[in-house]
Amino acid sequence: MSEKRIETDVLVIGGGLAGCFAAVRARELGAEVILAEKNYVGKTGSSHYARDFMLFKEEWGDKFDEWMEQFSKIGEYIADRRWDEIILRESYPRFRDLVSWGEPFYKKNGTVGFPEPEEEPFRLAFRRTKYRRYAVISKFGARHKMLIARKKVMDTGCKILDRVMITDLLEKDGRVVGATGFHTRTGDFCFIEAKATVISSGGLAFRSAPYGVQFNAGEGMTMGYRAGAELTGMEFGQGMYVVKNCDTVIIDGPVAEIGQKRDRVTNAYGEEFLNEIPHIPINIFWPIEFHKGRGPIYHEPYGVDREKYKEELKKYDETAEGPWITMLDRAGLDIFNDRFEQYMAFTGSFWAGGLRVNTSCETNVPGLYAAGDAAGTNYTGPTYTALGSGMAGASITGYRAGQSAAQFAQKAKELKLEGSEVEKYRQIVFGPLERKSGFSPDHVLTRIQQNILPYEIRMVMHEKRLQAALTMIEFFRDHFVAKLRASDSHDLRKAHEVRSMVLGAEVMLRTALFRKESRGWFYREDYPRRDDKNWLKWIFVKREGDQMKIWAEPVPKEYQGDTSLPYEERYPLQYQKE
Ligand SMILES: Cc1cc2nc3c(=O)[nH]c(=O)nc-3n(C[C@H](O)[C@H](O)[C@H](O)COP(=O)(O)OP(=O)(O)OC[C@H]3O[C@@H](n4cnc5c(N)ncnc54)[C@H](O)[C@@H]3O)c2cc1C
Repeated sequence: MSEKRIETDVLVIGGGLAGCFAAVRARELGAEVILAEKNYVGKTGSSHYARDFMLFKEEWGDKFDEWMEQFSKIGEYIADRRWDEIILRESYPRFRDLVSWGEPFYKKNGTVGFPEPEEEPFRLAFRRTKYRRYAVISKFGARHKMLIARKKVMDTGCKILDRVMITDLLEKDGRVVGATGFHTRTGDFCFIEAKATVISSGGLAFRSAPYGVQFNAGEGMTMGYRAGAELTGMEFGQGMYVVKNCDTVIIDGPVAEIGQKRDRVTNAYGEEFLNEIPHIPINIFWPIEFHKGRGPIYHEPYGVDREKYKEELKKYDETAEGPWITMLDRAGLDIFNDRFEQYMAFTGSFWAGGLRVNTSCETNVPGLYAAGDAAGTNYTGPTYTALGSGMAGASITGYRAGQSAAQFAQKAKELKLEGSEVEKYRQIVFGPLERKSGFSPDHVLTRIQQNILPYEIRMVMHEKRLQAALTMIEFFRDHFVAKLRASDSHDLRKAHEVRSMVLGAEVMLRTALFRKESRGWFYREDYPRRDDKNWLKWIFVKREGDQMKIWAEPVPKEYQGDTSLPYEERYPLQYQKE
């Protein structure tokens, strides 16, 4: 095992779309940039699996005020309107950046290419319900889109460190001055001193069933928290529909294109329980229906011609989403002719929660910036505002974070760490490898999953169950984490991931206990209504010594919508028992 000691202006942690944008932008402004990725930049991250990019452009007839109103309504009046405006205004310039990088997009006439501005608009519009009137997206037209982004990062002159897992931030005089980690194959110790650091390491997931989130264990959020950064929106978790016995998500885009207008989802009695429910909030209705004892939940057969469907899928196959139809075939599931069981699997905290940032993507800790799913912008509130806004958001926040980090680095004084401090970090990184006995990461992972993934813990929530799960997570924190042992560098990676998951789970549970109401996908069985009087608020968390401090701040009055409206009008989504 050797030691790599590196100095740079800007360190970017995580090479999904947000990290690539941050690296490119910082380099364009003249900074020396290192991009560290625990996997291989170009073949990892949720970004690898996404295909929709949200686009907004007034010249095409998109109405700014109407979109803002929709965002506000879907975000149930706690979406941060500063960020909503930024996401709308900057989606098009960032899309143009992607086209200039050589990213092809899928076009309405079925071809794939690099649209010239005069060919626009060519977007696909989805206006599926009265609840969500506008969602206009463009589809990435290359499976290898993130490899194209990698090439751009390298062509710009950034240095990529593949398979380097960052575990902790370096701190000196109240500032973040880089990060430390190790090479996941060679086991080399990496000590990277940077004038500015961008965290773009994605969301916080717990290795649950759906693909596309397996590598995101929230390390960026939790290392930021340990360094004193504030987190926000961490009470809002997300689920994904998963096909039972197959663990894949279904891609319904091609089905829609060959004529099926909507999914037919039924309970055990064959009732279409989603019928009257506006599209976006349905995520929470699956677990609620199951909770009523009316499961299992089925998707009715697609009833479309498989060959036509496969033909249509070829276009989509050009885009990035996984080999899901092969997965279904292997599991012996014929979704075209048979109904199939589907469930909502809890994944974790993605676009909603993360490191609190201002509109320049600065955290409250000098030298530390955040972007993409790791950043807490509160732009969606407790749901998901628009298809494609994850990728648009990753590009926009990545660009902004890279810019701010480069500007900070230009003026920042160099702060060097002493040899003894280097040794301290080495101990943190390699501690689990040096331990002869203790708990394996696999053991801890199973325990975390048993406590955080069941639908009745973080989807249909109740104080008693949240508290019970928290009690167990506290035990893991106090007993398992300090005694994690790893047998090789692969195991060491898992050890650091579960260390992060335990802290992340604690934050999620504590903040969920703190919000005593229901809102959007955040459903508390013991508080099954929105409480506008007390909870038009954002929740924040920070470390104070060994304690987790949690507090709420009211959203600005002008974001709160018309509070004089009757409840049913203000909230088209009605939970049970209201
Ligand atoms: C299956 C799926 C489909 C989706 N489809 C869409 C869609 O069509 N449109 C849309 O807008 N959004 C979609 N989303 C959401 C979207 O993918 C994300 O919002 C977006 O990709 C976030 O980008 P990111 O760069 O912040 O994170 P990621 O792309 O997740 O990148 C984070 C990177 O950080 C790395 N990393 C993590 N920890 C460390 C560490 N400790 N050290 C070093 N590296 C680390 C990870 O390996 C990863 O490569 C989808 C998500 C999934 C899971």
